Amino acid sequence: MQAPMVLTPDEALWERLFQETRGAMALCYQCGVCTAACPWGLVRREPFSVRTMMRRAQVGLLDGDESLWLCAACAQCEALCPRGVPVAEVFQSLREYAWEQRRVPRGLSSVLWSVYWNNNPWFQPPSYRSRWARDLEVPRFDPEQHEILYYVGCTSAYDRRAQKVARAIVQLLRAAGVRFGTLGDDEPCCGEAVKSLGHRPYFYEIAQNNAKRFAEAGVRELIATSPHCYEVFQNHYPRFQAEFRPYHYTQYLARLLEEGRLRFSREVPLRVTYHDPCYLGRRSGEYEAPRRVLDAIPGLERVEMAHFGPDALCCGGGGGRMWLETRAGERFADLRVQEALETGAQVIVTACPFCMACLEDSLKGLGIQRMRVMDVAELAAMAV
Ligand code: SF4
Ligand code: SF4
Repeated sequence: MQAPMVLTPDEALWERLFQETRGAMALCYQCGVCTAACPWGLVRREPFSVRTMMRRAQVGLLDGDESLWLCAACAQCEALCPRGVPVAEVFQSLREYAWEQRRVPRGLSSVLWSVYWNNNPWFQPPSYRSRWARDLEVPRFDPEQHEILYYVGCTSAYDRRAQKVARAIVQLLRAAGVRFGTLGDDEPCCGEAVKSLGHRPYFYEIAQNNAKRFAEAGVRELIATSPHCYEVFQNHYPRFQAEFRPYHYTQYLARLLEEGRLRFSREVPLRVTYHDPCYLGRRSGEYEAPRRVLDAIPGLERVEMAHFGPDALCCGGGGGRMWLETRAGERFADLRVQEALETGAQVIVTACPFCMACLEDSLKGLGIQRMRVMDVAELAAMAV
């Protein structure tokens, strides 16, 4: 007879999770709504049991298998959990523990080393950070001259596709007469990748240093290209006494339109559908600003997908999943582009470089040519 498996609860882990979630983790009463809500259930025959993971967390059992790294932090389950359990935070705490135990998937430590050595998770040289703007003559941020800092972010600084969005944002800020600057090659990584992958001590170090650096640079307000940077600035930097006010660029553009500083005059005759990035929508509560910008573009027709706003389907790029392999047939973005196609839109528009990458990969992988992915900033720039 096979000996029964002995599971040893880890009291220290239980204690830590209890404290980090301010007791919320213990509220889980195992209803299973999270498992039913999780998008993994849409792409896998064997659903990812979020409920089981919460149970393991409650009794201090670290799950060593890959399910620890599946969570895309989309907050779909958190939005529906009747007990308000911060599920993604619990996963991040479990991941932190996995780092301590040296039980992390292959390749992830090199992402963290890249942040450490290169100041970005993309293995790119720090001296290339401002190359995206070399012909744009974007000035160095000076608090005496500039009203706001444009925080470009690692992905928009280095990824060729995302660089086009950063350039469109510069065009829009100039069209509105905004006095702005960037930190050039000295712009620091916000640390969101490190946080999502669960290395909290390193994230805290990054956030603390950045809060100090932004204060020394005289930054009072900043515009972030990516909802991932915006979300950590908005929701996680305040504990490090960060005093600046962050905006996602769509929020800032909406404000410029409202103030009459930005005007759209050219027609953009396209039928589009907007994909809500999880980090801007469910994680930050911003659904309206990107839609207000799109609706101000003359000639543009906006239609909604079956799931939108708080119900939007995740593209699968959050929670550190950009640095983990997702098997073909299990990509949430495949489902999202199918939904977008059903609207008859020509363009699926988003406001996040990770969503952009996931959606474009899905269009290519599925061989879909009658739709393309664009960013809100690119459409807005066509209208000025
Ligand atoms: S939905 Fe909330 S209460 Fe229900 S099992 Fe999941 S975490 Fe627990
Ligand atoms: S945050 Fe999203 S991916 Fe993570 S467990 Fe909840 S529903 Fe699943």
